Amino acid sequence: MTDTSIADPSNDMEPFNLQFPFTRTLGNTLSTFFSAVAQGQLIGVKVGGRVIAPPLEYDPETGADAGSEWVKVGPRGTVSAWTYVPEPTHLHPVQGPFAFAFVTLDGADTPMIHVVEAPEDQLRSGLRVEARFKEGDEVNGRIDDFVFVPATDPSPSEGAGEPYQAPAEPEIQTMDAYCDLTYVDNAAPVTRVWTQALLEGKLVGRTCPQCGRTFVGAVSLCCVDAIELDESTQSEMPQTGVVTNFTVITPVPYPGQKETEPFVRCSVMLDGTDAVLGQQTIVGIPASEVRVGMHVALEWEPEGQRDVSEIGNGGHGSTGGAVVGWKPTGEPDEPAENYVDRMM
Ligand SMILES: [Zn+2]
Repeated sequence: MTDTSIADPSNDMEPFNLQFPFTRTLGNTLSTFFSAVAQGQLIGVKVGGRVIAPPLEYDPETGADAGSEWVKVGPRGTVSAWTYVPEPTHLHPVQGPFAFAFVTLDGADTPMIHVVEAPEDQLRSGLRVEARFKEGDEVNGRIDDFVFVPATDPSPSEGAGEPYQAPAEPEIQTMDAYCDLTYVDNAAPVTRVWTQALLEGKLVGRTCPQCGRTFVGAVSLCCVDAIELDESTQSEMPQTGVVTNFTVITPVPYPGQKETEPFVRCSVMLDGTDAVLGQQTIVGIPASEVRVGMHVALEWEPEGQRDVSEIGNGGHGSTGGAVVGWKPTGEPDEPAENYVDRMM
């Protein structure tokens, strides 16, 4: 998974791009449908006296199980409505101009939405189209195994409406998919204040005038009193503290995972305050030697090399790439039991 960027202090808005592959199971109805697609056959399901194609797992009229009375449909069908995409993005199923269209396949009573590859001026309601399937190694048993193109022969499809005998064990049981989501996050004013302070080598916190608690990080609200904490409540925080709790994370491999060795994320209570910074990195000792009560001091990245691009509004006390981490000072530990209630 990659999740990049935000909160350059000079910008109000930063794009995030979230990408990850995933595999989903299809269930009986879609397994049967996609296994048929892999064989070059489109099917629907007969339910409530009509043929729904592609098949649904339930009758949309009643919510009842749609069963498994499969019916052959297509490969030709009729366009009833469309919207044209003259300039596809990399996320569209085809890379040339195309239409998303409602196509009612021969033998079906409901339209399916799918790609029609045709010049814009050829599209019209009533246009006869036919499925053009991929071949050989390109066949995956997915919805993009075929597109519709204008039919060379507009006559009714042979065999449409006949029963389809599904295999007892459909060949295609899962689907590989890929999430690629770009969105813009508006960096909150407090996030920009926090990241700007980090670039200057400072930690800042805000103290609630009602309860006296200090919150460090991009926090502009006392979560106890629900009072807004503006810049008048802000002050610079010390850069030494005590570890109040920690987690050792043993990385598992997944696409985008950069960590290979166990590492620690801990909370640090800043000296002389009741402010706790969460999700911090410990450096200088093995993960197995981190202790609650250990004194640590912040080590910054050199000025000019501090990266705050991955700090977002949800990061609270995240120090991102502005710091190397917290290094043990070597002072005697504080008693661990003093920190049992200080996770945050
Ligand atoms: Zn408060």
